[in-house]
Parts: sequence; C-alpha cells; structure tokens
Amino acid sequence: MSDEAMAEGERLYIPTVRVRRDVPQERQCLRCETHFWSEGFGERICRRCKGLNAWRNAVPDSSGSSRRR
Ligand SMILES: [Zn+2]
Repeated sequence: MSDEAMAEGERLYIPTVRVRRDVPQERQCLRCETHFWSEGFGERICRRCKGLNAWRNAVPDSSGSSRRR
C-alpha cells in the first residue's frame, strides 16, 4: 500500500530549520579573529580576550588593604 495519492492533498509539512544562533558552535573572535568554541549566541569573544577583559574589570584598586600607617 502506498499513500502517495493521499499525501497529495495533505499540507506539506516543512520542518523549520532551526537557526543556529544560540547553539554551541565554532565562532570567530571579534577581537583577535581567532576561531574558538562558542557556547552560545552571546559569546563572540574567545576565552582569552574575555579573560583579559574580565581581568581588567575585576582588578580592584587594592582598596581593601587592612594595613594602616
Ligand atoms: Zn579573542
């Protein structure tokens, strides 16, 4: 038995291709243009550059010193 004749009247079921945006894939770093593995859409910078940025942003100005003169 073949359902070809019946399938003709059926609406075509087109599986929507999921846009690969928020899926882990290899991307190119916007800073150093190095190919790296991105965990998601929000990751456009490689870990190295990201680490550098975080490092600069996370460096306190040593204001927590308990020493007094
Ligand atoms: Zn980079």
